[in-house]
Formats: sequence, structure tokens, C-alpha cells
Amino acid sequence: MKVSVIGASGRVGRTAAFCLAEENMVSKLVLFAREESLEKIEGESLDMYDAMAAKEIRIKILSSCELENLHDSDIVVITAGVPRTAGMSRSDIAIPNAKIVAEYARLVAEYSPNSIIMVVTNPVDVMTYVALKASGFDRNKVFGLGNHLDSLRLRNMLAKHFNIHVSEVHTRVIGEHGDHMVPLVSSTSIGGILIKNYALDGTIDVEGMVKKVINAGSYVIDKKGSTEFGPAYAIANIISTILNDDKKILTVSAYLDGEIEDIKDVCLGVPVKLGINGIERIIPIKMSQNEIDAFKKAAKFVKKETDAVMKSLE
Ligand code: NAP
Repeated sequence: MKVSVIGASGRVGRTAAFCLAEENMVSKLVLFAREESLEKIEGESLDMYDAMAAKEIRIKILSSCELENLHDSDIVVITAGVPRTAGMSRSDIAIPNAKIVAEYARLVAEYSPNSIIMVVTNPVDVMTYVALKASGFDRNKVFGLGNHLDSLRLRNMLAKHFNIHVSEVHTRVIGEHGDHMVPLVSSTSIGGILIKNYALDGTIDVEGMVKKVINAGSYVIDKKGSTEFGPAYAIANIISTILNDDKKILTVSAYLDGEIEDIKDVCLGVPVKLGINGIERIIPIKMSQNEIDAFKKAAKFVKKETDAVMKSLE
């Protein structure tokens, strides 16, 4: 299996590449960057090889700025783009990043036409739409990381709150990877028991927790300048699900054509069945009225932002 990471000189790209190597799920990894960053990614690959020797993992890691080396990738991850800094929203970086993502998606289609594209660059729901249109790929083969990470963050908070193992918490955040994210509290369960039946003592502040999830990325950025390990391991989770054809239901940003609440022509975080062909099915979900309203609001917001960005690319 071959995975290429475009933007591997950046923090998320390089850490995601390291996770993929460390989890021993790919035989070939391409660290791709601009020519001016070639030295840097060469250094990254040498450093990774040392770590792989310690882990006794056999892998080929290639650092390159040559597009030909993307050829025959099973998955191409795009993390290239300007990151937000403290005080910035994801929308602030939409137009510059759209140009970068559109160009790379077009090149991926040219140099690795059978691959699956995973978009990470923010604002990720808009960028997923940009990559889908620029690549011309089928919609099952282009998706974005966003709400899977948010879901992991909520899962963590609930596990800490109840002091239980994180695997006992089943929860999901959908909608936008941003202020309009929608935590599906109504279907969250702890050890298979719906949270409303589990937290009978009323000590859980769901609203407060939801606010914390919305601000979780900014909180880390304010403290250490960027998020890195969380996104990287979330990327690795999704890639291993696809490469192992695991058929897990994870939340990714996907193009909607009316499958959920009749929302169309926008990419949003929704539960999907993932397998070797990418998105195998968008899973319809039953939500509370509040969640439906919030999901529709997210769709409206992302659609408006997407339309503005697509116009800027014309
Ligand atoms: P970073 O460390 O600054 O890395 C940015 C990467 O993009 C570098 O490889 C950089 O290449 C490349 N790049 C910048 N401008 C470029 C251009 N004009 N053309 C081509 N490549 C360019 O940023 P990061 O922290 O890794 O974040 C990367 C992206 O992921 C950001 O958009 C961030 O918001 C997003 N992100 C998304 C999630 C999510 O859940 N979806 C989570 C975290 C981060 P050089 O080294 O050559 O400059």
C-alpha cells in the first residue's frame, strides 16, 4: 500500500506520516513538499528511518518534490496550506488555502488518477468540496478530516468525566469542523447505555462540554502554536480503516446529495462506512429536533462559505 502526504514539511503532515509508518500499515510512504522544503523532508525521512529501525518496521520512505512520485498512490493526504494562528478562525484562511488545495487536487488527478484524496487543510469542509471539484474524482474518493477529530475530543472529555475507559464511550460530532459542529448527544452512549440514562445524577454539564469541544483546537493552538498529534492519529485511524477494508463507521467530511435532511451540494461531517473504495455509504441518522436544526444551520453556513470560495477560484 502506498500513501503520499502533500505538505509533509508541515507539522500535521510530518506527524501523520510518522504515525502511518509507526503503525506499520503502508509499504511505501511519500513525503511530498515544495522544492524549497526538500532538505527538510529529507531530514524527516532519515529521522523516521531511524525510528523504524528501532521498531523493526520495513518501509520505504521517499522524500520528493517531483509529482511523478505520487504515481500509483492508494491514498493522497493533502495537509498543505496556511495554518490558523492564535485568534484566527478556520474561515480566515479559506481563500489562500483553496488555491493551494485546488492546484494539488488537480495534480493528484493527473499523476495518481486511481487514488483516494483525504483533505486535511482548513477550513476542511470547504476544502473537501474544492478538492472534489478540482480533481473530478467520484465523490466516494474525496473526503476530509474534521469531525472525526472533534468526536475523539468529545469522547475523551466524557471518558475523563465518568472516569472510564475511552473505548466505553460512543459518541459522534457531525456538521462543520468549526463553530457550527453538532455533537450528537441524543445518541451518545456509555458502555452501551444512552447518556441520558447513564448520567442520572445530573452532574454532567453537556452544554459546557460541547463548548469545550468547539474550542478544543483553538485552546491547543493558544498554548503550543498548533495541533499536531490529535490530527495525525485521527488521519492514521481513517487511513488504516480504508487500507484494511475495515468497514468502520467514522465521521468524515463528505459530499452530500440529499442523504441527510435533504441537504445537497455541500461537504459536511457525517457518519460514513469506510472501506477499500473510500466512502462506501453515507449513513442516515436519527437526530433530535435541536440537532436537526443545528445541522441545517451548519449546512447553510458551509454552503455560503463554499460558494464564496468557489467564486474566488473562477
Ligand atoms: P504548517 O506546519 O505551517 O505546514 C503547512 C504546510 O503547507 C507545509 O508543508 C508548507 O510547506 C505547506 N504550504 C504552505 N503554503 C504553501 C503553498 N503556498 N503552496 C504549497 N504548500 C504550502 O501547518 P500545519 O499545522 O501542518 O497545518 C496544515 C493545515 O492543516 C492547515 O490548514 C491547518 O489548519 C490544517 N489542520 C486541519 C485539521 C483538521 O482536523 N482538518 C487539524 C489540524 C490542522 P513549506 O514547508 O514549504 O512552507
